[in-house]
Amino acid sequence: MSPFGRNNNGFTTRGLPEDVETLLRDAVPIGGHVLPPLPYPYDALEPVISKETLTLHHDKHHLGYVNNLNKAEKALAAARQAGDMALIRFWETELAFHGSGHILHCIYWTNMKPGGPEQPGPFLSRQIELAFGDFDAFRNQFLAASNAVQGSGWGILAWNPAWGRLEILQAEKHENLTQWGAIPILVADVWEHAYYVDYRNERRRYLDAWWTLVNWDDVERRLLLALHAQLPLT
Ligand code: MN
Repeated sequence: MSPFGRNNNGFTTRGLPEDVETLLRDAVPIGGHVLPPLPYPYDALEPVISKETLTLHHDKHHLGYVNNLNKAEKALAAARQAGDMALIRFWETELAFHGSGHILHCIYWTNMKPGGPEQPGPFLSRQIELAFGDFDAFRNQFLAASNAVQGSGWGILAWNPAWGRLEILQAEKHENLTQWGAIPILVADVWEHAYYVDYRNERRRYLDAWWTLVNWDDVERRLLLALHAQLPLT
């Protein structure tokens, strides 16, 4: 039984929708994604991340993913309407790439905060110990995985509802190497656009500095919400 009586998707603990119309009303319209503003000023993460990097990253790169996600969704709607699936592989690829890019950037912005808590809260700490042994072992694996991404991608701490524990994944580009059902709660952007202006080719130096910005309160909030997801294997 959820402490809230129902989970955050509006489903009762027996899996029945409480109010289907509410769920439909809350859905993002097709082609209606919007770029959320940064939760802090553009210079708030200096000196770790410069105002120049953050401005370009949010206003140009992230906006591009939002725009192209909307474009793909509208193109697929038009294809359905016309009954024309000639470009289906192209648009499905666009949907996965830009949709994943939009989601991961939204998480990345909120995962950072200047002067946040240095350690996770008690619940997240317990889950980290269960999955990785202790906090240092977790940090070492997360930063090593992030640093070792081949080409452009992400390091990701995810809650996997299928096995009920945390795990660390890599993403190449935004959408490759995922494990279905895994819900990202902490993400490190290791595309060169995230660090090249400030750190040149020194990805690991960026990651070690980035670690000091992690907003552990946000990571724990995301874990508590992710716990409501269910992915039954039987
Ligand atoms: Mn990025």
